[in-house]
Amino acid sequence: MNSPTAPVTQDVLTIPRKDAEGSTGKVNLVGLTHEQLRAALIAAGTPEKQARMRERQVWQWIYQKGVRDFEAMTNLAKDYRASLAETCEIRVPEIVTKQVSEDGTRKYLVRIAGGHEVEIVYIPEEDRGTLCVSSQVGCTLTCTFCHTGTQKLVRNLTAAEIVGQIMVARDDLGEWPKPGRNPKDETRLLSNIVLMGMGEPLYNFEAVRDAMKIAMDGEGISLSRRRITLSTSGVVPEIARAGDEIGCMLAISFHATTDEVRDTLVPINKKWNIEALLAALKEYPKLSNSERITFEYVMLDGVNDSDDDARRLVRLIAGIPAKINLIPFNEWPGAPYKRSSDARIRAFANIIYKAGYASPIRTPRGEDIMAACGQLKSATERARKSKREIEAEAGLGVVTIGSCETSAE
Ligand code: SAH
Ligand code: SF4
Repeated sequence: MNSPTAPVTQDVLTIPRKDAEGSTGKVNLVGLTHEQLRAALIAAGTPEKQARMRERQVWQWIYQKGVRDFEAMTNLAKDYRASLAETCEIRVPEIVTKQVSEDGTRKYLVRIAGGHEVEIVYIPEEDRGTLCVSSQVGCTLTCTFCHTGTQKLVRNLTAAEIVGQIMVARDDLGEWPKPGRNPKDETRLLSNIVLMGMGEPLYNFEAVRDAMKIAMDGEGISLSRRRITLSTSGVVPEIARAGDEIGCMLAISFHATTDEVRDTLVPINKKWNIEALLAALKEYPKLSNSERITFEYVMLDGVNDSDDDARRLVRLIAGIPAKINLIPFNEWPGAPYKRSSDARIRAFANIIYKAGYASPIRTPRGEDIMAACGQLKSATERARKSKREIEAEAGLGVVTIGSCETSAE
């Protein structure tokens, strides 16, 4: 049984990557910063004098045109292409399954190095298409309403695996620019990214930052920083850094209006409480009416959904340009909570709306394919039941952190 009073982090099995670059032994060029890509090309035999130009060419092939084969890089000399192919590769996660919901939501299960799997969700809407990207396999935190938080196996994704999720989605959507088409076209199918899949992005800061910088780069995927939203449970010391080094939009898994309740729902609150979190948010750069912080608030029956909660929420966030995203709780087997009634959610929303805040109620998308918030679990969840299998498959010495290995069931 999942205890509603969870420790800040759970005892986890960290999975080191068996082989960062896979079994090919080649250097994966995906996920490298401009400087790293240049260095990799030099290491692969590119003369230093040409490295800058070659780096830009290769970058554009990878991120602007979606090419995966050096042979297709027609503005590079034939033997240079062949020599790159000998030592380098362009590798993205491999799609294992794809499910399409009745409402058009797509859920991909992808395999990454070491045999691990994560889920990616694509949500089409009238005026945008949002990709929900994962940052970790599992999550070390133990939010008591979140299914991902019950997983025992955790590893950080690499920058290649994070930006690679965007690339495989674009492959599936068939959305690499055709000749003559403007890649900045804002009407594109994949127009927004939310880091709201599995994992706590601020516990994998560098990889998330490097991947998002690639997603924003004007010579590649070219998404505006305002179309990228990073969701955090409240890793306070990293919030300012996210503002400085990534500069994307921020969403906070707020979920409660007193420390007592938040300590239970989002146990990281025991480390950084509501006051510390709000202080960090007030300092977030560029906050304005057009660049607001999103407060995510999961509606749990009888736990955090009273009128008093709504009024306290409004008082707490006073002075912060904000919108409040109410998320009807998505139930999962064994979950210790129930979803608030529609009437309760509407009454709560109304109080917030009257106080002058946008308070959209997030329509659960892709429920029929378990793609809704907090339902992502992937094969890692199954692996929890057969650790030995995964150890054997990945050929790993699995490191156990923490003193005991209790089952989440
Ligand atoms: N770890 C990050 C990002 C991933 S979770 C974070 O916690 O912010 C994305 C959002 O879904 C978060 O607001 C999270 O609290 C919410 N969520 C998790 N489980 C949920 C569930 N069962 N029902 C509804 N929302 C959930
Ligand atoms: Fe981790 Fe976010 Fe789930 Fe909390 S809500 S356990 S931080 S993924």
